[in-house]
Amino acid sequence: MRITPRRDEIKRIAEILESDSYESADKMAAAVLKEAAKILSMRDTYAVVLSKHASFGPFGSKKEAEKAGKVLLGASGEHGVGLARLASPGRLEAQLEGSDWPGYCRCRHSKELHLMNGSARGRCGMYCGCEQYRERK
Ligand SMILES: [Zn+2]
Ligand SMILES: [Zn+2]
Repeated sequence: MRITPRRDEIKRIAEILESDSYESADKMAAAVLKEAAKILSMRDTYAVVLSKHASFGPFGSKKEAEKAGKVLLGASGEHGVGLARLASPGRLEAQLEGSDWPGYCRCRHSKELHLMNGSARGRCGMYCGCEQYRERK
C-alpha cells in the first residue's frame, strides 16, 4: 500500500521517536507500529474485486488499485475487475465513540454530528452538552 504521509501523521510518529518515555527500542518500535496502524485506519482505502471469492487490498489510492486491477486482469483471464472504496474503520469507530483526532470537536464528536445552525456549526447532536463545534488542533 502506497501512501503520501501527511504533516499531522508525521508529527504523531515523530513525537514517539523523540520521546524519552520508552525503556527500549523494541517498546518504541511497538508504539510506532500501533500509531501507524491507527493513522492508516483513519484513511479510506481501495480494493480490487475480481469475484465474490477474490478481492485484493487495501490500496492507498484508487489509482494504485486500478493499476493492480489491470495486472490482475491480464493474469486472471477474467473479463473485468471492480474497484471498491473501503470506508475507513477508524472513522467509523470515531463516529460512534468520539475521537481526539484533528478535525473532531473538543467534545470528541465529528463535525457531521454538530447540527447546522445558520452558517455556523451548532450544537452537538450527541447530547454531550457541547453548544458549538470547536475543532481540535
Ligand atoms: Zn462539540
Ligand atoms: Zn459532542
